[in-house]
Amino acid sequence: MKAIVVFIITGLLTIPGYTLAGTSNISSNGTPHHPAFVESRDDLVNVQVAHRSSPSHPMAPNTADVNIIELLQQLNEPLILGYLENLTSFGPRETGTPSCDQAAHYIFDTFQNMGLVVRYHNYTDATVSGSNVEATLYGNDTTNIFIICGHYDSVAAGPGADDDGSGVAAVLAAAEIMRNYDFDHTVRFVAFSGEEQGLIGSYHYVQDAYNSNESIVAVLNADMIGFTATGSDGIVGKIFENPASEWIVSFTQDISVIYSDYIGIQLFPQGETWGSDHYYFWEYGYDAVFYHEYHFNDYYHSANDTIDRMNITYSTRFSRLILATLAQMAQQPVQQRPVLEISSISGGLGVTAQINNIGDANASDVKATILITGGLFNLINVQSTSEQTVLNAQGSMQSKAMVFRLGKILITVAADASNADQVTKQATGFLLGPFVLEVVIAP
Ligand SMILES: [Zn+2]
Repeated sequence: MKAIVVFIITGLLTIPGYTLAGTSNISSNGTPHHPAFVESRDDLVNVQVAHRSSPSHPMAPNTADVNIIELLQQLNEPLILGYLENLTSFGPRETGTPSCDQAAHYIFDTFQNMGLVVRYHNYTDATVSGSNVEATLYGNDTTNIFIICGHYDSVAAGPGADDDGSGVAAVLAAAEIMRNYDFDHTVRFVAFSGEEQGLIGSYHYVQDAYNSNESIVAVLNADMIGFTATGSDGIVGKIFENPASEWIVSFTQDISVIYSDYIGIQLFPQGETWGSDHYYFWEYGYDAVFYHEYHFNDYYHSANDTIDRMNITYSTRFSRLILATLAQMAQQPVQQRPVLEISSISGGLGVTAQINNIGDANASDVKATILITGGLFNLINVQSTSEQTVLNAQGSMQSKAMVFRLGKILITVAADASNADQVTKQATGFLLGPFVLEVVIAP
């Protein structure tokens, strides 16, 4: 038995070229982006599906790729501005109105002129009917799909230049540039409608994709990426993610560092939000992120959400960040990965934790630690570590910790591997000498 006092050291993550102190003068107001006609998450459809873990995903590279730089250099301000002017020329694009349909036709024709395979994805809902527009650039291997998306509908009050002309311009620009290259994986460029009515277009799109068993690896949703209040807002952005999608955050952050000379935006992860078209991808078990300007548009959902109040330089930079992320993902190998899971924590003589590898590849250098704290007078602080060089795909291992005292205890189990993400689980229990009783796993 070995007792180790654990010190936790929190390190600061720093990105070359940026300091956290340098962001202190940036204005971030807290308004959340959400559909105009939806007040809370409770008003959205409650989707019930078994979560589909996707152990396969690409890893970001360590060095810049000249092909990606070539793509980035083609994404310039005139390209973004041109798409924005065309999209806003139809006036407000509320779903179900003729101007929204005109915008859909414009997007369809633009994709078709690029030589892409285009289709309308039509949906009918109790609230509204409409069409999403989808263009596909087939990969050398068509198994895995990567999506870039934005919503082309707007509120009735205004022309939605930033919300979400900016996202659709990024989608169109990415398509215009990527169409001239070959990629290993299939890329889809999607413009949704019905967003302002409650994410209705994307809901039906994801539901159909799920029912067709589509292997969508990553979804990059751009919604309002073109507004700044001050000059310093122009070098930062927000990214929203759920736990399963954190790898897309890391991937994008790596891209922003590797190609910083061509992008110049630092991203700040924000956690979950239900307020844009990425939401139903999460609900159906797909990995997705939502890119968003740092300072929320002061003219949101108004007649003043116009191009002249946007920052086209910023919009272009943000579009470049998303393009580079998408293009890099589309050419990286999708690797089978190990996925660790702590399936049980049990008592008896000491504490036993079971760790499984539920992924498709072997895990290397697996380390499982059990930390026991608490007890009478909070005197217990015991940590036990088990190591295993290889944990086969679909294999299991056990980790055990012994302790001898009295009182209520907190058990924290953590497992990681050199090629898998860390997982943790906590439980409470009661210690009576060497025996651990009443172990209850924390929710
Ligand atoms: Zn929006």
